[in-house]
Amino acid sequence: MARPAVFLDRDGTVTREVGYVNHVDRLELLPHSAVAIRRLNEAGVPAVLITNQAGVARGYFSLDLLEQTHARLRELLAAEGAHLDGLYFCPHVPEGKVAPFNIDCECRKPKTKMLHDAARDLDLDLPASFTVGDKITDVIMAHRVQARGVFVLTGYGRGDLENQSLAWSERPDHIAEHLGDAVDWILREMKRD
Ligand SMILES: [Mg+2]
Ligand SMILES: [Zn+2]
Repeated sequence: MARPAVFLDRDGTVTREVGYVNHVDRLELLPHSAVAIRRLNEAGVPAVLITNQAGVARGYFSLDLLEQTHARLRELLAAEGAHLDGLYFCPHVPEGKVAPFNIDCECRKPKTKMLHDAARDLDLDLPASFTVGDKITDVIMAHRVQARGVFVLTGYGRGDLENQSLAWSERPDHIAEHLGDAVDWILREMKRD
């Protein structure tokens, strides 16, 4: 039977927002991330990373570097007993310079192809699922598949909430200080459902 999942944004949510991660050494877990993901693992809730990485299309780093970065991410999590059940990325952006990635794709958030791909691969119930991210696009994407979107104040979150939230077209279902608080709320909601 299809299960609910938690879809995690990468930069500013699981890892520190440092601009484009154009070297593996720039990747750094945020303090609450490993424990939060481990709690999802222990609860049997799939934790799926969903990330826009337009730096590939822009020519800032290669697909190979991106794969190395994600291998490092999995190592950092494994060192703290946590793992990702899936990892999907969008390397595209239409104004990029690097073919074949400079296209108007179907996966760049807030488009929903990465969610649908994960649902197919892992047998997930999207309307019962949650996203966690530091940009409103993660919430918009969630609502497009009738999922709930948690907005975190790490990364761009606190600044975007203070400076841009009056103009938001969608409201988060919950606002959390960081991924640890987001997972607390989500696990409580899942028990209620
Ligand atoms: Mg982010
Ligand atoms: Zn894409």
